Amino acid sequence: MSWKYRYLFAILFVMPLLLCAKSYVLLKNGQDKYIQFEMELLVNPPIATADDIEDVFTAGKPKYLKSNFSLGYDTRDYWFHITVENSTKVSKEIILELTEQFHKKIDLYEISNGSVHIERNGLRIPLNKREIKTSQPAFRLHFAPHERKELYVNLTSNYSLYGAFQLKSHQRFLKDIRRLNHLYLIYFGAMFSLALYNLFIFFYLRRRVYLYYVGHVLLFTFSVATYKGFLLPYMNMRIYDISQISIPLFFILLIRFSQQILKTKEHSPRIHMLFNTFIGIAIISMLWMLMDIHNGFYFMNITAMIILPMLILSSLLAVPKDKTIASIYLIALLIFIVGMTLITILSLALIEYSPWITHMPMFTSFFEIILLSLLLAYTIHKMSQESTIAREELIKQQKSEKRRLFQEVSAKTQALNRAKKRLEKELEKKKILEKNLKLQATTDSMTGLLNRRAFIDIFDKELKRARLSMNPLSCLILDIDHFKKVNDTYGHPTGDLVIKSVAKYMKQYTREVDHVGRIGGEEFAVLMPDTSLDDARQIADRLREFISKHLIYIDQENIHITVSIGITDLRNTNETIDEILQRADAALYNAKREGRNRVCSL
Ligand code: GH3
Ligand code: MG
Ligand code: MG
Repeated sequence: MSWKYRYLFAILFVMPLLLCAKSYVLLKNGQDKYIQFEMELLVNPPIATADDIEDVFTAGKPKYLKSNFSLGYDTRDYWFHITVENSTKVSKEIILELTEQFHKKIDLYEISNGSVHIERNGLRIPLNKREIKTSQPAFRLHFAPHERKELYVNLTSNYSLYGAFQLKSHQRFLKDIRRLNHLYLIYFGAMFSLALYNLFIFFYLRRRVYLYYVGHVLLFTFSVATYKGFLLPYMNMRIYDISQISIPLFFILLIRFSQQILKTKEHSPRIHMLFNTFIGIAIISMLWMLMDIHNGFYFMNITAMIILPMLILSSLLAVPKDKTIASIYLIALLIFIVGMTLITILSLALIEYSPWITHMPMFTSFFEIILLSLLLAYTIHKMSQESTIAREELIKQQKSEKRRLFQEVSAKTQALNRAKKRLEKELEKKKILEKNLKLQATTDSMTGLLNRRAFIDIFDKELKRARLSMNPLSCLILDIDHFKKVNDTYGHPTGDLVIKSVAKYMKQYTREVDHVGRIGGEEFAVLMPDTSLDDARQIADRLREFISKHLIYIDQENIHITVSIGITDLRNTNETIDEILQRADAALYNAKREGRNRVCSL
């Protein structure tokens, strides 16, 4: 090609292309996606009928903007113009897609060869009434070889005006949708699993924080599902608008969750109050959204921009005693805020639109929700740790209490034992004392024999027994002969020793059952139960004989003494002790009178 032809080519083809390059898309072979182009824009143009469109655009001064646009909150009529030309020799089927599905009206006016074809889409058109039944608004365009079409899109929205127009081959369009759907399927699966898992824990632990978490996860997932058009088949525009309250609702649950996890009520009541104010604002925006979705949503967006950083700041101030909980919570919140902030500043037209920005809330919430679940798991761990410590403390206390009680009881037991021993000893002493006293009261201290009173007491008992049993009962009285002489010869102390010796002999010569008593100075008596007078005489005689034949050795002196004994027995049951003793005494008197050293009976 010579240079002349090149110039001609430039003038004829390239120059017009350059002139309208800004809203011009040239379809080529081998390219299945056109995403970087410019469009003409008119806001609220005076278009009455479809026939006016081209004239109005020609007369008006359209602005140029990129195929990805973010125009902020505006309910006015927006008209976009794109020229698409098939540069190939084959006919082509192309899909014109708008990446966002939440706009109220997306109507396409397709003008080719003077004829206008209108295709309606957007939220107000139910899915089953659309030509292409995907949640992403899309239009099918047929291009004959070298055919050129003028595409005008009329867009209005209740929400922020952002999105991107893209031209794709049919296959590419379906492939992109499938890829995106898979991604969201994984996301929804993960979210539901986490919600279910924590719901089970709630039923087990009955702690409200789990319910807030589950509510937050489900509401957020729901709002992502509506935002990304997954619930569009089940909704009309009114329901779609109402369902937007899930956004302030999950904010409320996030704040409630924060209050619980950071224990703001206990640790920082002021921040707790601030959080409550945020909840109040969210409720206001919710009500506003129900009355007027456009302004309500805008208000919610603005307040979210304020509340989210405030939430972080307040959480930093309300860092509880446990730093781990606070750090995990703050990281989760920060991640979450990245996605939410991006979508918010996009809505406010502060940044350029890109589809990945609209996926950011999903990505960031994915990590936020996992982190918060970990946080809850950590709190369980913490709780079990605390309860173990408390249990151990309790066991320790119980043990020490047991030990203390045991020590107290053993000390008291020892004291009681000591007291018991002391009492026993005292009792023993008392018994001995009593015994001694009794002995003293009943015994003659010099001889150890019964004294007169004790002898009489026993006599009384034996007498009663003898009367009942009808057994014999004998009694003797013994008196030392000429004892005055003994005293006079050897002295009174020696006389005492002689009396003692006689007492000893008497014990020897009587039986165990006999009762021997000292009834006077040198006078003794023996009561012999179950003993006849003859037997008593034998005993008395043996005793008398022994004494008379036995010398008592005292202080190198051999002292000889004799004794006289008077014996008698119970004659009839009516006799008194005195009568018996008098008779024995009379018998003794007889023995003295008859010459002493003898036994007489009466
Ligand atoms: P008899 O043969 O008639 O009995 O002459 P007797 O000297 O023994 O006279 P009697 O029995 O009347 O006298 C008792 C004396 O015994 C009088 C008293 O001095 C003495 N006597 C009494 N009790 C004791 C005593 O406990 N110790 C001493 N050593 N002498 C006593
Ligand atoms: Mg006498
Ligand atoms: Mg005498």
